[in-house]
Amino acid sequence: MTEINPATPTKLPNISFEFFPPKTEEMDRTLWETIERLAPLAPSFVSVTYGAGGSTRERTHATIVRLLKETSLIPAAHLTCVGAPKSEIDDVVTRYHEAGVRHIVALRGDPTTGIGTEYIPHPDGYKTSADLVASIRKRYSDIDVTVSAYPEKHPESADFDADIDVLAAKVDAGATRAITQVFFDNDLYFRYLDKVRARGIDIPVLPGIMPMHNFKQARSFVTRAGTTVPDWLAAKFDGLDDDAETRKLVAATVVAGQVQKLAKHGVSDFHFYTMNRADLVFAISHLLGFRPNGARKAA
Ligand code: FAD
Repeated sequence: MTEINPATPTKLPNISFEFFPPKTEEMDRTLWETIERLAPLAPSFVSVTYGAGGSTRERTHATIVRLLKETSLIPAAHLTCVGAPKSEIDDVVTRYHEAGVRHIVALRGDPTTGIGTEYIPHPDGYKTSADLVASIRKRYSDIDVTVSAYPEKHPESADFDADIDVLAAKVDAGATRAITQVFFDNDLYFRYLDKVRARGIDIPVLPGIMPMHNFKQARSFVTRAGTTVPDWLAAKFDGLDDDAETRKLVAATVVAGQVQKLAKHGVSDFHFYTMNRADLVFAISHLLGFRPNGARKAA
């Protein structure tokens, strides 16, 4: 079987968490309560997304800087090429570097006209994510760059070969890690990984795991991004639209099953799309052997 993440020899898993920058004071409170709850699990890093079209640039920056100042977590700032000239994007990277950020998740981003429409780069902007990766690495060799990966291929890719060409270009440009788009069928991840390894790409490819607090909302969101929601999964949430408590128990069972099966097959790094909520992610991390204060138990 394919070696899953050869750069990570440890048997105990690594976890990382994704947050999004809060829009309101209430969301801000929720995010920081979530961070307080999850931080003692000592994740390898925590990432903060960059709103479509760069809409959250300042909020992403503020969240990242606060993480640096007030926690011992290692923050990774998402950044896209959308809607800005290279000079502006470079300034964002410079500000991050000056603030002490040493990890960027570099992305092309979605078209400003909506997912599914043609992507038109800014006339003076970075044209591809690989261009952005290359620029960051050239200017700052001490910034670790993570990129995206698509177990179901990106919706714009003609086929898997074309999709993996893009991943290969990003790795050639200096990316050291990839995080996958959310997926629910582990076989898709393993088949994709086989293709990636067959291409000679050996960076860790972290599975992006999404505990679904609200199945209906999550389904509409992930489907737009090209993720398949299998019928067996939809059936598990059937009839629970007005029963949040049972939904949560079902979501915990589903995601625990997914993660434990991945771990059983040798996956050692997990990236959780937290949706800024702690409960399910804390429980699943516990199942993986993570305890507060960085303690680990073999799961
Ligand atoms: P890439 O991997 O660069 O390319 C995606 C696809 O576009 C390719 O597979 C290919 O089909 C096509 N393509 C790209 N370049 C070429 C080329 N030169 N020739 C032909 N085809 C090409 N979006 C945000 O707005 N903010 C975020 O914070 C954010 N975080 C994300 C984190 C992760 C882990 C993932 C998986 C996605 C994230 N996204 C985010 C979504 C992402 O911006 C979209 O999926 C976007 O459509 C593609 O960006 P990318 O960097 O993944 O693209």
